[in-house]
Amino acid sequence: MKDPNNTRNTVPRRGSPLWTYFVVTTLAGIAACVAALATLTGADVDALVGNPLFWILGCFIIFGELRPIITPGSTENNGATTSTTFSFAALLYAGLPIAALLQAVAATTCGVLRGRSPHRIAFNAAQYTLSLGAAHLVLVLFGVQAGPTSLWVPQGSDLPAIALAGAVYFAGNVTLVGTAVALHERVPLLKALRWDLGYQVLVHLALLGLAPLMVVAMHRSAAFVPLIVLPFIAVYLNASVSVRREHQALHDGLTGLPNRKLLIVRTEQALADVRAAGGPGPSLLTGRRRQGTEQDRRAGLFLLDLDRFKEVNDTLGHATGDRLLQLVAHRLTHSVRPGDLVARLGGDEFAVLLPTVRDAAAAREVAARLRAALSEPVRMDGMSFDLEASVGIALFPDHAPDFELLLQRADVAMYNAKGSRSGVEVYSPANDRNSPARLTMLGDLRRAVDRGELELYYQPKVSLHDGQLVGMEALVRWRHPDQGVLEPDHFLPVAEQTYLMRSITRHVVEAALAQAADWWREDLTVQVAVNASGRDLLDTGLTETIENGLLRRGLPAAALQLEITERILMNEAAYASDTVTALAALGIPLSLDDFGTGYSSLVRLKRMPVEEIKIDASFVTRITTSADDAVIVRSIVDLVRTLGLRSVAEGVEDPQTAVALREMGCDAAQGWHFGRPMDAATATDWLRRRMQRAPEPAA
Ligand code: C2E
Ligand code: CA
Ligand code: CA
Repeated sequence: MKDPNNTRNTVPRRGSPLWTYFVVTTLAGIAACVAALATLTGADVDALVGNPLFWILGCFIIFGELRPIITPGSTENNGATTSTTFSFAALLYAGLPIAALLQAVAATTCGVLRGRSPHRIAFNAAQYTLSLGAAHLVLVLFGVQAGPTSLWVPQGSDLPAIALAGAVYFAGNVTLVGTAVALHERVPLLKALRWDLGYQVLVHLALLGLAPLMVVAMHRSAAFVPLIVLPFIAVYLNASVSVRREHQALHDGLTGLPNRKLLIVRTEQALADVRAAGGPGPSLLTGRRRQGTEQDRRAGLFLLDLDRFKEVNDTLGHATGDRLLQLVAHRLTHSVRPGDLVARLGGDEFAVLLPTVRDAAAAREVAARLRAALSEPVRMDGMSFDLEASVGIALFPDHAPDFELLLQRADVAMYNAKGSRSGVEVYSPANDRNSPARLTMLGDLRRAVDRGELELYYQPKVSLHDGQLVGMEALVRWRHPDQGVLEPDHFLPVAEQTYLMRSITRHVVEAALAQAADWWREDLTVQVAVNASGRDLLDTGLTETIENGLLRRGLPAAALQLEITERILMNEAAYASDTVTALAALGIPLSLDDFGTGYSSLVRLKRMPVEEIKIDASFVTRITTSADDAVIVRSIVDLVRTLGLRSVAEGVEDPQTAVALREMGCDAAQGWHFGRPMDAATATDWLRRRMQRAPEPAA
C-alpha cells in the first residue's frame, strides 16, 4: 500500500495474525455472499439475466476495478476504485445480492488478470461483500428493500439514508483494508488508517455521491451509464499523470526504487515513530536490554555500495551494468522485511532503511542477509559474475539524531567496511574523528554546498623554460557568510571523512569544467587541474560526472587534470580502485601531488596515466638554504625526467628559488612568485593579458 517495496502479494505465514485475519475475513465474506444470494428468487434471477443494464453495470465494475484510483505516494489499489460508484449504485438500485455478486466477479476477474495470489483475491472479494453488506443493513433499517424485481429509485428525501449507508460502506472498507495493512506492516491500525485517510474520504465522497445520480439516470435508460464514465476518464487520466509525475520525482528511473528524496521522507517518519515509542530508553545506558518491551526500538540506516561494479560497467557496457543494477535492486527488495525500504542513491550506491530494529546485532544480521542475497552468482549474457557489496550501518538514536547525520555515519561505516574488506561495519565513534564542533561545521558546510558558497580560485603553473602557462590549478574556497573567505584546510579535512566530500568534489569538477569551457571558448586553451581526495577514488560516480561534464561542454579529456596526493594514490586499494582505472580509460591525465611525502612505487607509476609530478612545497621552499633539500629536489627532477613526465615545483615564493629550479632542469613551477590563487574574474583577466602577450599554441 504505502510501501513502495510492496510484497503484499506474498502469502502470509500460516498461523500468523495476518493469515488468521485473511481467513476470518474471507469466510465472513463468503457467508455474507451466500446469505445474500439465498434471498434471490427464480423471478429475480430471470430479471437479472434478462436486463442488459446489469450486464453493462457488470462490465463497468470490472473496468473500474482494473483502473484503480491511485493515491499519490502509492502505486497500489487502496480500496478506492471507480467500480465503487457502480457497485454502490447496483446496491441501491437492485439490492445486495446483485451488488455483491457483480463486485465479487469483478474483483476475481481483475485479480486473475493482475496475477494476484488467490488469498488476496478472496480477501478483496470478501472485503467488498462485507462493506456492501453493512451498507445494505443501513438501507434496510431505513425501509429500503431493493431487488432485481423491485428496483429502487431514490428520491431527494432518501439522501440521509444513502449518506449513512455510504458512510458505513466507507468505514467498513477502509477498516478491513487498513487492518490488513497494519498487520502486514506491523504498525498500529490507527496509524495505517491515518496514512491517507483524508484523501480516502475525499475520493469516496465523490465516488459514492455519484451513485444515486447514476441510479436515477440508468433507471431512465441504460444508455446513460456510459455518460457517467466520461468524467471518470477525465479525472483518471489527470490523476494518473500527476501520480506518475510524483512517482518519477520520488523514484529512480532505472530500478524503480525510491530515491534519496523518498528515503529522507520515510527515514524522518521512522525516526519520529521511534521517538514516539520512547526509543531504546535507559537500557542503552545500562547496557542491559529490557526484555520484550515496546521501548526496545531503534531505526537503522544502511549504506550499501557494490564492490568493483565499475569493472562490469566498463567491460560489458552500460546496458549490462544497468541490468545488473536492476537485478541488485530486485535482490535487495526481496531480502528485506515488509515495511523496510530499499532506495537507490545513485550509481551503485543503495540505502536500506529499517524503521524498526532491535539492536546492532540484528542490523548486522540483516546486512549479512543482503550481502548473501547479492553474492548469489549472476548469469548474464552467457557470463557469470559474483556481486559483492560493502555495507555501513548507523542506528538511530544511538549514532545520530537525524537523517543527514545518520547517512553520513552509515557512510563512515561503509568506508571502514570497504577499507578493512570486512563487508559489514556498524558505525563506531572510535573510527570517526568527528567532534561536535566539527559536526556543526559539517552541517554548515552541507548548506554551503547547496547555497553555492563554495567557489574556485585558480593558480597558474608556469613553465620554467619559456615562461609559458602550463595549466591552472583550481583551489576551492568557502565564501562563508560570517567568516569571510575560508581556505580548504579549514573545512576539507572534516569533509573528507564524510559523504559530503563527494558532493564537494562533484561541485568542484562541475565548476572547473564550466570555467574551462568559458576559457576555451575565448581560445584561452588552458588545462584546469582539480584536486581529488582519497575518498573520491571510492566514488565510482565521479568518472561519470567527469565524462558527462566534458561531453556536455565539448571539451577533450586533456582540458582537465586530476591532482591526487601521492600518499593516497600509492595505497593499494586506491591504486586498484575502479575510479582510477576508469579515469585512465577516459584519458584524464593525472598529476601526482605533494610528491616526496609518500612512498611511491615507480613500477606502478609507469602503469598509470600520470603526466605530471608536483614536488611538495616543503622541499622546494628550502632549496636555496638547505643543501639536503636541494639534493632531494634535484634527484626528484632527474627521476621525473627519466620517466618522461613533467616536474612541477610547488610553493615557489621568490625569484632565487625559481632560478635554482630552472638550473636543476625542473619543468614548471607554481607559487606566489608566479601568481597567487585568484578568483575566477581575476584569473580570466590574468589569462587574457598573458595569452595576448605570449600567444600559446592550443594544447
Ligand atoms: P595543494 O593541492 O598542495 O595546493 C597548494 C596549496 O598551496 C594551496 O593552498 C595554495 O594556495 C598554496 N600555495 C600556492 N602557492 C604558494 C606559495 O608560494 N606559498 C605558500 N605558502 N603556499 C602556496 P590551499 O588553496 O589552501 O589548498 C590547500 C590544500 O587543500 C591543497 O593543497 C589541496 O590538497 C586541498 N584542496 C584545495 N582545493 C581542493 C579541492 O577542490 N578538492 C580537494 N579534494 N582538495 C582541495
Ligand atoms: Ca594540488
Ligand atoms: Ca600540493
